[in-house]
Amino acid sequence: MRSLVEKVHYKDEHEIELMKKSGDVLSACHDMLAQHCKPGITTKELDKLAEDFIRSHGGVPTFLGYGGFPGSTCISINEEVVHGIPGPKVIKEGDIVSIDCGVTLKGWVSDSARTHIVGEVPEEVRRLVDVTKECLFLGIAQAVPGNFIRDIGVAVQKHAEDNGFGVVKVLVGHGVGRKMHEPPQVPNYDCGLKGHILKEGMVIAIEPMINLGTWRVRQLNDGWTYITEDKKPSAHFEHTVAITKKGPKILTNGLD
Ligand code: MG
Ligand code: MG
Repeated sequence: MRSLVEKVHYKDEHEIELMKKSGDVLSACHDMLAQHCKPGITTKELDKLAEDFIRSHGGVPTFLGYGGFPGSTCISINEEVVHGIPGPKVIKEGDIVSIDCGVTLKGWVSDSARTHIVGEVPEEVRRLVDVTKECLFLGIAQAVPGNFIRDIGVAVQKHAEDNGFGVVKVLVGHGVGRKMHEPPQVPNYDCGLKGHILKEGMVIAIEPMINLGTWRVRQLNDGWTYITEDKKPSAHFEHTVAITKKGPKILTNGLD
């Protein structure tokens, strides 16, 4: 039987440095994808670019084959929230495109997502993307020793709901390390429990998924893609973050 209190795998400074190297490849991969996320390209073509980039930098695409997933990226357009499968779908003017990707480098995983605005979108959609990114950084600001997991979700939820948006609840952030998904879970809302106390050496993926309309989502019959129940757009930003005595250290932004 599994314990109710899941064991957190703490990382030492050297291990966090190795995770940062993985995150640097991932950040550069996202920068490259941003250049190609334009009208006319298919999500499968973007996925191939990501796979080739990761492998040419000595990494392995973490998502490929994970639970049977067929891509190196999850690409989720407009009302698709997360876990979109790369395929023949063509990106067009006015889309918002969430790309989630993971890199395994020398056995260490990094996980990060960005939402791209393609051309002109309605003002409320642009605001959704901006607010979701702000939610991520407000969540990251809570990732300091002595706080609790709950503090992250409270900050994310408040900013999203103050702006009239819905916070996805059935999908959450997570610990990251040698595996993509480690304890603890990191909800983007106030789940009512303090959860783990944040300590130096924890590494977590914080990943708000914020909807223009209802927070409710459902999964498509492909067994992967989540969409919003009201078919309104959804945005997603994610960073892998180490908790250090100097504060949160983002491992997937390409900065020192
Ligand atoms: Mg991710
Ligand atoms: Mg994640």
